[in-house]
Formats: sequence, C-alpha cells, structure tokens
Amino acid sequence: MSSIVLLGSTGSIGVNTLRIAQKHNITIEALVAGDNIELLNQQIALHKPKFVAIRESAKTHLVNHPRVYSGNEGIETIIEQSCSDTVVNALVGYAGMLPTIKAIKMNKKVALANKESLVVAGEFIDTSRITPIDSEHFGLWYLLNDKKSKQLIITASGGAFRDWSIEAMHKATFKEALNHPNWSMGSKITIDSATMTNKLFELLEARWLFGTTQLDGVIERRSIVHALVEFVDGSTTAHFAGVDMRLPIAYALLDSVEDEILPSVDLLKMGAISFEAISPQKYPIWQIKSDILTNPHLGVVINAANEEAIELFKQGACSFFEMSDRVLECYQKFHNAKPTSIEDIIAIDREVRRYING
Ligand code: NDP
Repeated sequence: MSSIVLLGSTGSIGVNTLRIAQKHNITIEALVAGDNIELLNQQIALHKPKFVAIRESAKTHLVNHPRVYSGNEGIETIIEQSCSDTVVNALVGYAGMLPTIKAIKMNKKVALANKESLVVAGEFIDTSRITPIDSEHFGLWYLLNDKKSKQLIITASGGAFRDWSIEAMHKATFKEALNHPNWSMGSKITIDSATMTNKLFELLEARWLFGTTQLDGVIERRSIVHALVEFVDGSTTAHFAGVDMRLPIAYALLDSVEDEILPSVDLLKMGAISFEAISPQKYPIWQIKSDILTNPHLGVVINAANEEAIELFKQGACSFFEMSDRVLECYQKFHNAKPTSIEDIIAIDREVRRYING
C-alpha cells in the first residue's frame, strides 16, 4: 500500500498509525483531526499531506496548510478527491459512521478502528471492504482457519474498576474511570472499558465481521490473550501478543508482514493467566449480551444512548451506574426500532439522543 487517508490522526490509534506508516514508507495523502491543532500542525510538517480537514470551520486559519476542509462535508470531500485506495478510520464515536460508508461507496478499503461504524450500521456496511483495527478481531482472524469453529471468545481487561467494590463504584468519578489498568487509549473507549460497553460493542463488531452469533467475552486481566477460538472438535486456541495496537494496525496497512512489529511475549516472565466471567452485577450492560446479538440492528440505540450517557457522566449529571441504567432504559424503550436504511439509522440516533436528554 503506498498511500492512505487518515481520519483521526491526532488520537491514540491515529498516532500509532503514523508511526507504522513512517516506518514502512506509506505516504499520508490526507490528515483529519478534531481540536488538537498543535499536534496536527506537527503531523502536517512531517508528513506533508495533500489535504487536511478539522472538525470546526472557525479554526481552519490555525492550521498550517493551504487546503483545509472542515466538518463532515470536509471529510467526505477529501475521501472523494483522494487517490489512496485505503482510508484508515480512527475517528471516535458516531462521527465515524458516515465516513466509513462514504469510503466504501468510493470503492476504497477501510482499515477500521472506529468500531461504532459497525455497531451502529453493520447491517448496511459491506464488511468485505473492511479490515478491523481492533486487537480482539485481529486475534480472531489470526486464529480462524478452515476448521469448523464452535464459539469465538474475546477478552476484556475488566477496566478501571475491576478491583473496586460495587458500593465504591456507585461513587466513582469520570477521572477515576479513565484510569485503565493496561491500555493507554482515548477517553471514550476507556470509559466504555470501565462499563464493559466496549466489549459488548466488540461482540457486535464480531457479529458483522465473522457472521456468527456464537460469541462471548471473558475477563483476562493482563490483556495478553486477546482472543480464543473453540473448535467443534474440542480444541481451543488462543492468540497472545503484547498490549500494543501497532500489530493490528500493521496488518491492516501492509500487504504482508515479514518483520517484527512487536517483541514476542516472554512466556517465562508472563506468569499465570486466568479467565473470569463478566458479572452483570458489576457490568450491568452485560445483561443484554444475548438479546443484542440476536437483535444487532439495535446497536444504533445502545450507541446513541451510551454516547449521551458518557457526556452526562463527564458533566457530573449522572453517576457511573446511572450511565448503564439510562442506556438499558433506552434499550427497552426503543426495542422495536427496525432501521431499514442509513436514513432510518440517522433518525433513530437523533430520537434516542433527544429521549435520553429529555
Ligand atoms: P481518541 O479520542 O484518542 O482519538 C479520536 C480521534 O478522532 C482524534 O484524532 C480526534 O481529534 C478525532 N475526532 C473526533 N471527532 C472528530 C470529528 N468530529 N471530526 C474530526 N476529527 C474528530 O480515540 P482512540 O484513538 O482511542 O479511538 C479511535 C477509535 O478506535 C474508537 O472508535 C475506538 O473505539 C477505536 N479503538 C481504539 C483503540 C485504542 O487502543 N485506542 C483500540 C481499538 C479500537 P482531536 O483529538 O484532535 O480532537
């Protein structure tokens, strides 16, 4: 691959993508960021992209580039005008969905970190055009072979409060929820890890990517085992790799991976590995795991409610567990929603957001 369009370049995945691109001489045709103009300007100086876009038009004069677009239209224009055959979508949240759809419409491949695209609109996305940038789905892909699988299992760290009592979690603050035990990631996915919503989203992602509902999650505290596959013959295989997103990113960007991306896991230093069930008492969102896998089109409801609930928690307008309460309430309220198009998805998203803030 010789050139890419990178959406979300100033985020955790975006920065790692640029490291891999630089090491492997991949040209950056376009950079898209939100508010971190200082970092974006550094990236522009280093990578010299042809196009740039940022979230707000009012800030375009701060960007050191002659062709700066803004907003969702700006991102779509860049996707339309670019020659790259791959778009790396590392935007966070619902804002990433339409760019994914646009890139596929323009016949591009999508290296997709923005899991919300599949959570919200998986039914309307051609997954044959997608390579996921997520360690669990990369692990599953790595393990699956022509043998018949019985169940795909992904692991969770347990998030910031895995060792907290439920009583203490009732009083947990936004800042405390950002204290992830293993991974350094953007704030939204870190909160989603604390509530286990991230794992629910990854099951939905897997549902669309691998076409099965035989899916589950377990806690593995070290985040060294990313995925396991149970086969019908009774064998189970596991994927071990370091806690570093450069491995899935490299596989999404490079035609072939022949050299070391990460150092191997040191088995003798690793110590014991254990697996724990995900408790619906500690992670209330886990109550709907089976239901949402049979109704994956309700991902749009969960996602909209979750994004709004995180905002309320951030502002101190609801407690940690009230986030899950509100999401579960929306899930019941909108359980009959049945989107048949992207326009329906957009309408349901708006309605859920209005309801939760009403
Ligand atoms: P970050 O919050 O670190 O980065 C998000 C990026 O998107 C930033 O560059 C941000 O810009 C940009 N952005 C956000 N909204 C807009 C917008 N409206 N217009 C333009 N740019 C925007 O998130 P992560 O990198 O952690 O995560 C990105 C995605 O990847 C998420 O969907 C996440 O679930 C997924 N993911 C992340 C993993 C990780 O290890 N971080 C692992 C697996 C998946 P700015 O910062 O300049 O405001």
